[in-house]
Amino acid sequence: MDTIDSQLLRVVDGWQRRQAWPHAVLLTGSERSGIFDQAFYLARRLLCETENACGVCSSCQRVHRMSHIDLHLLASTPTLKQLDLPLVDGANERHLIRKEEVLECCRALSLKAHEGGWRVILCLRPEEMNKEAANTLLKTLEEPGDHCLFVLVTSEPKALLKTIISRCQHVKLKPQSREDLSQVWIQEGCERSKSEVLAAMDLRGFGVTPETLSELRPLVLGWLTAVHERHRVQELELAEGLNRQGTPEAVLRVLRSLLSDLLALNAGCPEVELTHRDRLDDLRRMTGLDSLTMAGVLDTSAGALRRNVSLISILTAIARGAQLT
Ligand SMILES: [Zn+2]
Repeated sequence: MDTIDSQLLRVVDGWQRRQAWPHAVLLTGSERSGIFDQAFYLARRLLCETENACGVCSSCQRVHRMSHIDLHLLASTPTLKQLDLPLVDGANERHLIRKEEVLECCRALSLKAHEGGWRVILCLRPEEMNKEAANTLLKTLEEPGDHCLFVLVTSEPKALLKTIISRCQHVKLKPQSREDLSQVWIQEGCERSKSEVLAAMDLRGFGVTPETLSELRPLVLGWLTAVHERHRVQELELAEGLNRQGTPEAVLRVLRSLLSDLLALNAGCPEVELTHRDRLDDLRRMTGLDSLTMAGVLDTSAGALRRNVSLISILTAIARGAQLT
C-alpha cells in the first residue's frame, strides 16, 4: 500500500475519533509526492467497511478498481488519462472541467448513497475548472448534502477561487526533500543533473516530464534572453517555436519556474536553493528583467488559457508586463 502522509493521517484520525468529518477537504502538495494517492486513501477511509482503509474488504477493492458506486471523479480527460483512471463518455479532450461536468456530479449526489454510507467526490486538479464550473462547485460546497465529502486535490491552490478554499479544510501534505524526489527520477533512468531540476520543479508544483524539460527549457531561456535584450523579432520567433513544441500549460510551467529563480536571485537567495542552478550563468545574465511584474501577469494566465487566449498572446503580455484581457 502507498505510504500515507503523517500529517494527513493525524488529521483523519482526529475526524474519525470525533465523528466530525468535514464536507470538503483541500489536499495540497506536489503531484510527484503522491497527492492523488493520498486522496484515494481518504476515499478508502470513508468507504471502507471497517473504516480503516483496510484494502481487502469489498468496498476497498471496489475503490481500487474504480467501480465503487459512491465514489465520483471530477477531472478533465487529459488528467484522467495521465493518472490511468476511467474516462467519462463524451467528455471534452481539453484540460478543462466544465459546468456540465460539475452539475452531473452534483446530480449523482442528490440521490441517496447507494450503500447507505458516505459519498466521496474526488476533484483532481480543480484549477482546471472554468469560472462557471468553479461557481457551480462553490454553490454545492455552500449547501453540501449529508454524508458527502468533496476532496479537492491540487498542487496549485493559488489558482482556485478564495471562496472555494475557505469552504474547505486545508491539509498541506509534507513536502519530500529534493534529494528524495531526485532519487525517484534517477531510478526512472534520468541523469543526475536533470533529475535535480525535475525534483525541484516537482516540489514547487511546476512538475514536467524529462522530455518537456529538455525540449522546452532551452527555448524558454532563449525567449527570456530575447525579451531581456529587446530583440522583438527573435522573441516572436521563439514564442512561435514554443507554441509548436509544447502544450501552453507545460511552457508556462517551465517559464514560471525560471521566473521564480530570477525572483529568488534578485532577493539574494543562496544559489543552491535555485531550481535551475545548472543554468546559473544564463539566469545571472537576466537579473535585470522585471521578473516580479512578469510573474504577476503569468499568475493570471490560467484564466486566459481557459478563455482560449493563445499562448503567443499570453507570452507577449508577460514580456510587456501588460494585463491579460
Ligand atoms: Zn476496507
